[in-house]
Amino acid sequence: MQISLAQQVALVTGASSGLGAASARALAAAGAAVVLNYHSQAAPAQALADEINQSGGRAIALAGDVSKEADVEQLFAQTLDAFGYLDILVANSGLQKDAAVVDMTLEQWNTVIGVNLTGQFLCARTALRIFNRQGIRPGVSCAAGKIIHMSSVHQLIPWAGHVNYAASKGGVEMLMRSFAQEVSHQKIRINGIAPGAIRTAINRDVTQGEAEQALLKLIPYGRVGEADDVANAVVWLASDASDYVVGSTLFIDGGMSLYPEFRGNG
Ligand code: NAD
Repeated sequence: MQISLAQQVALVTGASSGLGAASARALAAAGAAVVLNYHSQAAPAQALADEINQSGGRAIALAGDVSKEADVEQLFAQTLDAFGYLDILVANSGLQKDAAVVDMTLEQWNTVIGVNLTGQFLCARTALRIFNRQGIRPGVSCAAGKIIHMSSVHQLIPWAGHVNYAASKGGVEMLMRSFAQEVSHQKIRINGIAPGAIRTAINRDVTQGEAEQALLKLIPYGRVGEADDVANAVVWLASDASDYVVGSTLFIDGGMSLYPEFRGNG
């Protein structure tokens, strides 16, 4: 199976690091022009854009806080100014502000919901408006647009000490499925990815040393995931190779969501 995203334009939020950076690099390698959104880390986003441009691709880095409506509007307007179209959105930005529920501040709650859930709503809404105006671009893709929502295994697995994060990702699942139900008749494809434990900045404290050994007990496949495990799936979901996949969540977790603790009868 040969995947080409030539002539397509992809916007990846939170592309200065981790899964966003790997996804942007993989989308560019598949031929898409890529917009790398960053929040506060301009340097790594610009360095990745430079790397893509130097290797014959097309990329720009653009600032924007996905939880702010005006920033999101500006980000998408700048995308159209730069590349003329938008075909793929990877709504990837996310963060954690962990605390026991009795100690969790309203600010910790609102920040996580604001970026992880409201941010995905704002970006998807703006993308959908553009997809509606554009329609299908003949010869470019079978679909009038594709959105990939970065969720987590914690859209399914409750997570003590992280209720704001788990609630945000549970929300992402229903946001994604409801959007898909609402717009797929317009030939817009919306899907989600639920990563398990993937080695990035967000979980550096549990993916190395002794903590990694404890984590591996939760991963039947026996290894921590790498960013490319997710990036490869992003490219596939963005491409016509997955044209009949609508409103699905792809779990990329080495089996973490299979409840491995129950293997020996629980
Ligand atoms: P990361 O910390 O490297 O990346 C998160 C990105 O989100 C960063 O680039 C950050 O700048 C960006 N971001 C944060 N606040 C933002 C804002 N207000 N506006 C725009 N961007 C903002 O971690 P990651 O692991 O690459 O996480 C990417 C996504 O994957 C997140 O949604 C995360 O919840 C999800 N995820 C990661 C894992 C994992 O194991 N790494 C597992 C499940 C889900």
